[in-house]
Amino acid sequence: MKLSILELQNNHPLIDKKFRHQQIRDFVFKKYNLDFTGISTLPKKMRERLEQEFVICPLKEISRITAADQTTKFLFQLGDQVQIESVVLFTKNQQTTFCISSQCGCRMGCQFCQTGKMGLVRNLTCSEIIAQVLFLANFSINNQLIQPDEHFNIVFMGMGEPLDNLLAVKEALHYLTHPDFFHIASSRITISTCGMLDQIEPLLKDFPKIKLAVSLNSAIDEKREQIMPINKKFPIKKIAADLTKIYGKYGNRITLEYVLINDFNDGPEDWLALKEFQHKAFHINIIPFNDTNNLESKKLRPSESRIKRFIKELEDIGFRVSRRYRRGSEIQADCGQLYWKNKTS
Ligand code: SF4
Repeated sequence: MKLSILELQNNHPLIDKKFRHQQIRDFVFKKYNLDFTGISTLPKKMRERLEQEFVICPLKEISRITAADQTTKFLFQLGDQVQIESVVLFTKNQQTTFCISSQCGCRMGCQFCQTGKMGLVRNLTCSEIIAQVLFLANFSINNQLIQPDEHFNIVFMGMGEPLDNLLAVKEALHYLTHPDFFHIASSRITISTCGMLDQIEPLLKDFPKIKLAVSLNSAIDEKREQIMPINKKFPIKKIAADLTKIYGKYGNRITLEYVLINDFNDGPEDWLALKEFQHKAFHINIIPFNDTNNLESKKLRPSESRIKRFIKELEDIGFRVSRRYRRGSEIQADCGQLYWKNKTS
């Protein structure tokens, strides 16, 4: 079995001279090439040995689907047949963003989320996490969606709760931000969590400039518990207090993600309850529920007038509010829609 490129350490006997390592790293992590054959600066024999013994991208593309807005969703198979999804999408200001997975499935059980319905299949390794970035960057350059030296953003909002796989995610962040590897600014990387408060400090201790998004969805404990079981462990008052403290220590504004669900969390008591978070630490991102083809789901999306009213009420209270427009919802590549159906189970 081939080893991951990450295991090609400095003292590996295959590499005769020290500078070869940086040649290989530049070719893979800065130019996003997925095989060794094109590293013309290396002796042919070395390239062949690398190709035989190491793998750059341990993902097998199973399918891809592109939406009208150019959002493209990929289904990948990993070595043990497990499958994950990753998405390339374009934000309002035309910035390219890679939405990547940190787990196959998820054990957090959020009721509005397709991934949550799968339960946890397994954690992804560091190599599987960064391979998604390599693949999506390679795809975006080859399809002229970005220029070879253009920056892109990364959001850990694909399948899984990144803080539930913290060791591998931190290892991946090391490679993503390190100058010898991807060298992506921390401010371009967002970790999205359902609110595993006890894992935030261990993350920020090592990566203080990483952006944080917390999936809130209600500031009323009884409601949040209904859709997000984690609220039993970390209730609203604790979330507000801990995140405010974290802001005081690290200074990074925190985005509160709020999936707006018709007649559930979009009324007056809901926007008033959000006052608990009235602090400069927070920015609220409103995500109207995705209306999939499912009839029942359609009823869960608030009308346009209700969405606008909710946003206006929050702005009047004094919040900074943004609205996430749907990206690729017709291909189920939007927030909470990523799902792998294990045919053998
Ligand atoms: S929203 Fe995130 S944390 Fe919740 S079940 Fe889905 S993937 Fe897991």
